[in-house]
Amino acid sequence: MQSKSSIQGIGMTSARTRDRLVERLRKDGIRSTAVLEQIRNVPRHLFVDEALASRAYEDTALPIGLGQTISQPYVVARMSEALLDGFEGDSVLEIGTGCGYQTAVLAPLVKKIYTVERIRELYQKSRQRLRDLDIYNVQFRPGDGWEGWAKYAPYDGILVAAAAAEVPQKLLEQLAPGGRLIIPVGPSGRQDLIVVTRTGDQYEQESLGEVSFVPLVKGK
Ligand code: SAH
Repeated sequence: MQSKSSIQGIGMTSARTRDRLVERLRKDGIRSTAVLEQIRNVPRHLFVDEALASRAYEDTALPIGLGQTISQPYVVARMSEALLDGFEGDSVLEIGTGCGYQTAVLAPLVKKIYTVERIRELYQKSRQRLRDLDIYNVQFRPGDGWEGWAKYAPYDGILVAAAAAEVPQKLLEQLAPGGRLIIPVGPSGRQDLIVVTRTGDQYEQESLGEVSFVPLVKGK
């Protein structure tokens, strides 16, 4: 269990510091009050190494070890907002749990999240971290996100936190009619954030602009 003061934070992790981040995201165009509220609530400093805790409320990606990063708050907010805009349904599949920050932001805003991470150590740590934060509507799995998670498909929303050269076919198949998939697509370093909406057997695609993610690695 985390103590109340460690969750709320002090100094560079305090409520005022978090308010400044929320203000910045609002200025940068994030509109969803539910998402902004979650950015304020989720203690991002507990998702990074203690040495980086003082930078946790800067709007920047930070290293989390094993060559991976915690996503930039703006990107987490933008993806969450895109997923939830007009969202109907219960279940969300997330690919690339990482440290679990995006998962924690989204968890109270949807009924159930299924999340897949290929690096076992990150899978274990994020599962424990979300338990410590009393988040229980998330099911974790170590594995290859290119395969999705067939067992609980179809999903009303799918969110991919790593960049793919193309949209994985399995994820399109596991998207429910009316559902939407948010995924960065493109080469290393520079990708388009794509929203795919499924209506029946048709898929419509729209771009939300340029982003930069670590690659969605193929295979285990
Ligand atoms: N969602 C995280 C950011 C994750 S970074 C946050 O909130 O900060 C992207 C993650 O995707 C990394 O942890 C990486 O290991 C994972 N990943 C890359 N390829 C994958 C794959 N094929 N299947 C599952 N996870 C993958």
